[in-house]
Amino acid sequence: MESFAEHYESLFETIHRHMPDVDTRLIRQAVHYAEEKHQNQKRKDGSPYIIHPLAVAEEVVEMGLDMDAILGAVLHDCIEDTDASHDEIAKMFGNTVADLVDGVTKLTRADFTSSEEQQMENLRKMFMAMSKDIRVVLIKIADRLHNMRTMQYQSPEKQIKKCRETMDIYAPLAHRLGMQKVKWELEDIALRYLDPASYERITDTLNENAEQDQAFMRTIQTTISARLGESGIHNKTYGRVKHVYSIYRKMNQQGKSLEELYDIYAFRVIVDSIPDCYNVLGHIHDLFNLVPGRFKDYISTPKPNMYQSLHTTVIGTQGIPFEVQIRTWEMHETAEYGIAAHWKYKQGAGHGNERDFEWVRRLLESQQDTEAEEYVQSLKIDMFDDEVFVFTPKGKIVSLPAGSTPIDFAYAIHSGVGNSMVGAKVNNRIINIDTPLKNGDIVEVLTSKVSKGPSRDWLNICQSNQARTKIKQWFKKEKREENVAHGRSSFEAEMRRVGLPLSITIDPEISHQLLKKLSFDNWEDMYAAIGYGGLTAVKAVGRIRDDINRVVKVQEKTLPGTSLKADSDSAKKNRHAINGVVVEDIDSCMIKFAKCCAPVPGDPIIGFITKGFGVSVHRADCPNTSLRDDPRFAARWVRVRWANQDNQPFETTLELDCLTRDGLLLDVATTMTTSRIRLKELNGKDLPDGHSVFTVRFEVKDVEELESIRNKLLNIRDVIGSRRGQN
Ligand code: MN
Repeated sequence: MESFAEHYESLFETIHRHMPDVDTRLIRQAVHYAEEKHQNQKRKDGSPYIIHPLAVAEEVVEMGLDMDAILGAVLHDCIEDTDASHDEIAKMFGNTVADLVDGVTKLTRADFTSSEEQQMENLRKMFMAMSKDIRVVLIKIADRLHNMRTMQYQSPEKQIKKCRETMDIYAPLAHRLGMQKVKWELEDIALRYLDPASYERITDTLNENAEQDQAFMRTIQTTISARLGESGIHNKTYGRVKHVYSIYRKMNQQGKSLEELYDIYAFRVIVDSIPDCYNVLGHIHDLFNLVPGRFKDYISTPKPNMYQSLHTTVIGTQGIPFEVQIRTWEMHETAEYGIAAHWKYKQGAGHGNERDFEWVRRLLESQQDTEAEEYVQSLKIDMFDDEVFVFTPKGKIVSLPAGSTPIDFAYAIHSGVGNSMVGAKVNNRIINIDTPLKNGDIVEVLTSKVSKGPSRDWLNICQSNQARTKIKQWFKKEKREENVAHGRSSFEAEMRRVGLPLSITIDPEISHQLLKKLSFDNWEDMYAAIGYGGLTAVKAVGRIRDDINRVVKVQEKTLPGTSLKADSDSAKKNRHAINGVVVEDIDSCMIKFAKCCAPVPGDPIIGFITKGFGVSVHRADCPNTSLRDDPRFAARWVRVRWANQDNQPFETTLELDCLTRDGLLLDVATTMTTSRIRLKELNGKDLPDGHSVFTVRFEVKDVEELESIRNKLLNIRDVIGSRRGQN
């Protein structure tokens, strides 16, 4: 049995270690409040309940979270298990703390067990969506960690249930949030209960070999430290056997016994700077034999969960392969505590309003490989409440865009259900079909065979594209005549609104040209499309607006004097920049930068109106602009210039001609990293004649910075030439 005093002391000792200057009065107050509230409750092992919140709070301190989160952790079971209320907690400790406790309570009440494998990702998302504040998730993870550590006191059924849940929800979440240390501990404890035989077999073998393992690791560690010491690289080096669950997974994946397993040792070298990381890598490869294909540079390309390190696998004289992870202290902190570590840094920088998760987004958006982009996307869904998760009466989870109504739900089930819907029940009560749904709602659709079908209003009410598409399909099929009339009047109203002459659609030649642009055979079909909502009048008119204006302009140009006036007018109008570029004579359009020459601010540039959409910006000296003299394209070249206000980075590409040699790719990467250039892509291709071509995609702010980095790259041995852009 554990005592209150022990945990109390330990908590404040930890707080003191992590936040030496913090005023602990409020925390003491919260502890006494919680102790009183929980006073008649006992843990399964008979100890007073209060030690649980104390232990959770201690873990939250270890994660590096803030005062509100610590208070939230101390109070996290008060609303669920005692007579404490949100209002009371808000009055004593503030609204934020009360909201945190409320959030944890909601997660505690939700049942996240599900038998269906494919529902897991949805469950995890629902968990995040329900949390609103990332600190709620972190407190809940700390809560689960302590419950797992004291799992031995639970009944066998409860052990299995909780451990499954931990494997399905909590460990993947800890991983996604980059909290390796927590993830490993959760997995190892869960495995102990889910597959006790395997767990014991692995730990027994590891224990038997412990002495040998230790000796091996000491040898390697000494070899590495000695070498780095000689080279004056300040470092902390240590070895460890990988955690039990990761060994278990490897054995199952590779169908091998522990003895046959490839690498179970991992060494870590922690140094002071990024250049040191690459230096250490050189020394490791010099000391040991490299296992080919195992080098990974997560420094220049961090993992989506922010993890950074260099990984390499080598074999020493003993013939045992082992992995070496090289990182800086800051990277180490991030690897251990993940998102929580960044929380701490941002706190120090004094950023307010963490609820917006602005910093998470910025942080993640700064790593733009595709995997990361997807991850950002999923985090946005998770954290910005873009999605809502509801249940069918049978308990199946349906995910819908936030703000979705029973109409969206009905069409998500089946278009037949949507088309015959006459009403809906949520949590067993009849509600209006335009009521927004909330996470966890149980939704039932009421249908009728005599329903007259969806109403046009539904198109404005529903949130999901799926529902909108299906409703439109229904109208398209059912109501041709009505659609044509409806569409025609919307189209004509829009033409009038933007000041275009309706008469122009009557001229057969122009009419044919416009319909081609709209991809319709005749006007009636187009009106019908607008009528059922397949196309909006604004979009249709927008698509032909330039063409009509051009015809009008040609007609006007035949009158002397008018064109000059029009030009000076538009020069005044078109001052606003898109992506840092001002296009003369065009009000607003998409801008993209040509891949062939990748212009950056400072380069002389010219624009070309592309066939699809928008203006493509080239450098004025790009070979592809030689088409400028071709009369067929003359009208499509437009004058563009750089706007002055831009500080945003520009992506550009250099191709390097090199003599093929080992390590050159690493040299290029190191040069980029030490110049603090954000590298987006780095590829090398060997040519048959002993030459290689490297493609380097990266961000710069202007042509000056580009030229400076280009010079540095040309200074690398065996880099013999460079080219702007990509062929
Ligand atoms: Mn708890």
